[in-house]
Amino acid sequence: MQHPAPSRTLVRPLSRARRLTVLALAVCVAALSAAFVIVVVNATFASAIAPFAPTADDGLIAEGAVVTLADDDVPAVARLDAALRDAMRQAEAAAAVDGVAFQVTSGWRSSQYQQWLLDDAIELYESEQVARQFVATPERSSHVTGHAVDIAPVDAQLWLIQNGASFGICQTYANERWHFERATAPGGVCPEMRTDAAA
Ligand SMILES: [Zn+2]
Repeated sequence: MQHPAPSRTLVRPLSRARRLTVLALAVCVAALSAAFVIVVVNATFASAIAPFAPTADDGLIAEGAVVTLADDDVPAVARLDAALRDAMRQAEAAAAVDGVAFQVTSGWRSSQYQQWLLDDAIELYESEQVARQFVATPERSSHVTGHAVDIAPVDAQLWLIQNGASFGICQTYANERWHFERATAPGGVCPEMRTDAAA
Protein backbone atom coordinates (compact mmCIF):
# COMPACT_ATOMS: atom_id res chain seq x y z
CA MET A 1 0.00 0.00 0.00
CA GLN A 2 1.40 3.29 -1.02
CA HIS A 3 1.40 6.15 1.43
CA PRO A 4 0.50 9.50 -0.02
CA ALA A 5 3.40 11.92 -0.19
CA PRO A 6 3.38 14.27 2.82
CA SER A 7 1.87 17.59 2.06
CA ARG A 8 4.59 20.04 1.14
CA THR A 9 2.70 22.92 2.69
CA LEU A 10 3.34 21.56 6.20
CA VAL A 11 7.07 21.41 5.89
CA ARG A 12 7.72 24.29 3.55
CA PRO A 13 10.13 26.63 5.37
CA LEU A 14 9.07 30.23 5.80
CA SER A 15 10.18 32.44 2.99
CA ARG A 16 12.97 34.91 3.77
CA ALA A 17 10.50 37.81 3.64
CA ARG A 18 8.21 36.13 6.18
CA ARG A 19 11.13 35.33 8.50
CA LEU A 20 12.11 38.97 8.44
CA THR A 21 8.52 40.05 9.17
CA VAL A 22 8.26 37.68 12.14
CA LEU A 23 11.63 38.87 13.44
CA ALA A 24 10.57 42.52 13.10
CA LEU A 25 7.31 41.83 14.96
CA ALA A 26 9.20 40.04 17.75
CA VAL A 27 11.56 43.00 18.10
CA CYS A 28 8.57 45.39 18.27
CA VAL A 29 6.82 43.30 20.94
CA ALA A 30 10.01 43.11 22.97
CA ALA A 31 10.57 46.87 22.70
CA LEU A 32 6.97 47.65 23.69
CA SER A 33 7.16 45.29 26.65
CA ALA A 34 10.37 46.91 27.83
CA ALA A 35 8.86 50.39 27.46
CA PHE A 36 5.77 49.32 29.41
CA VAL A 37 7.88 47.91 32.24
CA ILE A 38 9.92 51.13 32.38
CA VAL A 39 6.76 53.28 32.53
CA VAL A 40 5.19 51.15 35.28
CA VAL A 41 8.37 51.06 37.34
CA ASN A 42 8.86 54.82 36.95
CA ALA A 43 5.26 55.59 37.92
CA THR A 44 5.47 53.36 40.99
CA PHE A 45 8.78 54.86 42.02
CA ALA A 46 7.59 58.44 41.41
CA SER A 47 4.43 58.01 43.45
CA ALA A 48 6.49 56.51 46.26
CA ILE A 49 8.87 59.46 46.48
CA ALA A 50 6.86 62.42 45.10
CA PRO A 51 6.41 64.97 47.91
CA PHE A 52 2.82 65.94 48.73
CA ALA A 53 1.93 69.46 47.63
CA PRO A 54 -1.40 70.85 48.83
CA THR A 55 -3.84 72.20 46.24
CA ALA A 56 -7.07 74.21 46.48
CA ASP A 57 -8.88 70.88 46.80
CA ASP A 58 -6.95 70.27 50.04
CA GLY A 59 -8.14 73.64 51.35
CA LEU A 60 -5.04 75.58 50.31
CA ILE A 61 -5.57 79.33 49.93
CA ALA A 62 -2.60 80.68 48.01
CA GLU A 63 -0.66 83.45 49.70
CA GLY A 64 -1.96 86.79 48.47
CA ALA A 65 -5.28 85.34 47.24
CA VAL A 66 -8.25 87.31 48.53
CA VAL A 67 -10.88 84.85 49.75
CA THR A 68 -14.00 85.78 51.71
CA LEU A 69 -16.75 83.82 53.45
CA ALA A 70 -18.87 84.36 50.33
CA ASP A 71 -16.54 82.26 48.17
CA ASP A 72 -18.61 79.07 48.05
CA ASP A 73 -16.54 77.71 45.17
CA VAL A 74 -13.35 77.67 47.27
CA PRO A 75 -13.09 74.30 49.09
CA ALA A 76 -11.52 75.94 52.18
CA VAL A 77 -14.78 77.93 52.59
CA ALA A 78 -17.28 75.51 51.04
CA ARG A 79 -16.28 72.66 53.38
CA LEU A 80 -16.48 74.69 56.58
CA ASP A 81 -19.03 73.50 59.11
CA ALA A 82 -22.29 75.16 58.02
CA ALA A 83 -23.06 76.53 61.49
CA LEU A 84 -19.61 78.14 61.74
CA ARG A 85 -19.92 79.63 58.27
CA ASP A 86 -23.38 81.03 59.02
CA ALA A 87 -22.24 82.54 62.33
CA MET A 88 -19.17 84.04 60.66
CA ARG A 89 -21.28 85.53 57.89
CA GLN A 90 -23.55 87.17 60.45
CA ALA A 91 -20.51 88.55 62.26
CA GLU A 92 -19.09 89.74 58.94
CA ALA A 93 -22.29 91.68 58.17
CA ALA A 94 -22.15 93.36 61.58
CA ALA A 95 -18.46 94.16 61.16
CA ALA A 96 -19.13 95.69 57.75
CA VAL A 97 -21.33 98.28 59.47
CA ASP A 98 -18.21 99.24 61.46
CA GLY A 99 -16.23 99.43 58.23
CA VAL A 100 -14.34 96.19 58.91
CA ALA A 101 -13.99 93.49 56.23
CA PHE A 102 -13.05 89.83 56.81
CA GLN A 103 -10.67 87.82 54.69
CA VAL A 104 -10.31 84.05 55.07
CA THR A 105 -6.66 82.98 55.16
CA SER A 106 -7.44 79.35 56.01
CA GLY A 107 -10.56 77.31 56.63
CA TRP A 108 -11.26 73.64 56.03
CA ARG A 109 -8.10 71.58 55.36
CA SER A 110 -7.62 67.98 54.27
CA SER A 111 -5.80 65.84 56.84
CA GLN A 112 -2.97 65.41 54.32
CA TYR A 113 -2.61 69.21 54.13
CA GLN A 114 -2.68 69.47 57.93
CA GLN A 115 0.04 66.80 58.22
CA TRP A 116 2.08 68.64 55.59
CA LEU A 117 1.80 71.87 57.63
CA LEU A 118 2.90 70.01 60.76
CA ASP A 119 5.85 68.37 58.97
CA ASP A 120 6.84 71.79 57.63
CA ALA A 121 6.71 73.31 61.12
CA ILE A 122 8.75 70.41 62.58
CA GLU A 123 11.40 71.09 59.95
CA LEU A 124 11.29 74.84 60.69
CA TYR A 125 11.51 74.55 64.48
CA GLU A 126 13.61 71.37 64.44
CA SER A 127 11.32 70.13 67.21
CA GLU A 128 8.01 68.31 67.05
CA GLN A 129 7.16 69.59 70.54
CA VAL A 130 7.57 73.24 69.51
CA ALA A 131 5.90 72.70 66.13
CA ARG A 132 2.80 71.26 67.76
CA GLN A 133 2.32 74.49 69.72
CA PHE A 134 1.58 76.15 66.38
CA VAL A 135 0.19 73.35 64.23
CA ALA A 136 -2.15 70.66 65.54
CA THR A 137 -1.98 67.08 64.32
CA PRO A 138 -4.64 66.09 61.73
CA GLU A 139 -6.43 64.12 64.47
CA ARG A 140 -6.70 67.20 66.74
CA SER A 141 -7.07 70.05 64.25
CA SER A 142 -10.46 71.71 64.10
CA HIS A 143 -9.53 72.93 60.61
CA VAL A 144 -9.70 69.33 59.36
CA THR A 145 -13.27 68.96 60.62
CA GLY A 146 -14.22 72.38 59.24
CA HIS A 147 -14.82 73.85 62.72
CA ALA A 148 -12.13 76.57 62.57
CA VAL A 149 -11.39 79.52 60.34
CA ASP A 150 -8.41 81.88 60.22
CA ILE A 151 -9.26 85.52 59.58
CA ALA A 152 -7.25 88.55 58.43
CA PRO A 153 -6.42 91.43 58.54
CA VAL A 154 -5.63 92.57 62.06
CA ASP A 155 -8.62 94.94 62.39
CA ALA A 156 -10.93 92.02 61.54
CA GLN A 157 -9.21 89.86 64.15
CA LEU A 158 -9.56 92.56 66.80
CA TRP A 159 -13.21 93.11 65.87
CA LEU A 160 -13.95 89.40 66.28
CA ILE A 161 -12.05 89.17 69.57
CA GLN A 162 -14.19 92.03 70.87
CA ASN A 163 -17.56 91.16 69.29
CA GLY A 164 -17.43 87.54 68.15
CA ALA A 165 -19.14 86.13 71.25
CA SER A 166 -22.38 87.87 70.19
CA PHE A 167 -22.37 85.32 67.34
CA GLY A 168 -20.91 82.42 69.34
CA ILE A 169 -17.47 83.02 67.79
CA CYS A 170 -14.36 82.85 69.96
CA GLN A 171 -10.59 83.00 69.67
CA THR A 172 -9.64 79.61 71.08
CA TYR A 173 -5.81 79.67 71.21
CA ALA A 174 -4.01 82.44 73.07
CA ASN A 175 -1.11 82.33 70.59
CA GLU A 176 -3.32 82.51 67.47
CA ARG A 177 -5.09 85.87 67.23
CA TRP A 178 -6.46 84.89 63.79
CA HIS A 179 -8.01 81.52 64.67
CA PHE A 180 -11.74 81.41 65.44
CA GLU A 181 -14.23 78.69 66.28
CA ARG A 182 -17.85 78.49 67.43
CA ALA A 183 -17.26 77.98 71.13
CA THR A 184 -20.20 79.52 72.95
CA ALA A 185 -23.89 80.21 72.43
CA PRO A 186 -24.64 83.47 70.59
CA GLY A 187 -24.41 86.21 73.22
CA GLY A 188 -22.60 83.83 75.58
CA VAL A 189 -19.19 84.03 77.19
CA CYS A 190 -16.15 82.58 75.43
CA PRO A 191 -14.37 79.81 77.32
CA GLU A 192 -10.86 80.41 78.59
CA MET A 193 -8.41 80.12 75.72
CA ARG A 194 -6.00 77.24 75.48
CA THR A 195 -2.42 78.51 75.51
CA ASP A 196 -1.63 76.84 72.16
CA ALA A 197 -2.54 74.00 69.79
CA ALA A 198 -0.56 71.49 71.86
CA ALA A 199 -2.30 72.35 75.15
ZN1 LIG B 1 -6.39 78.26 62.59
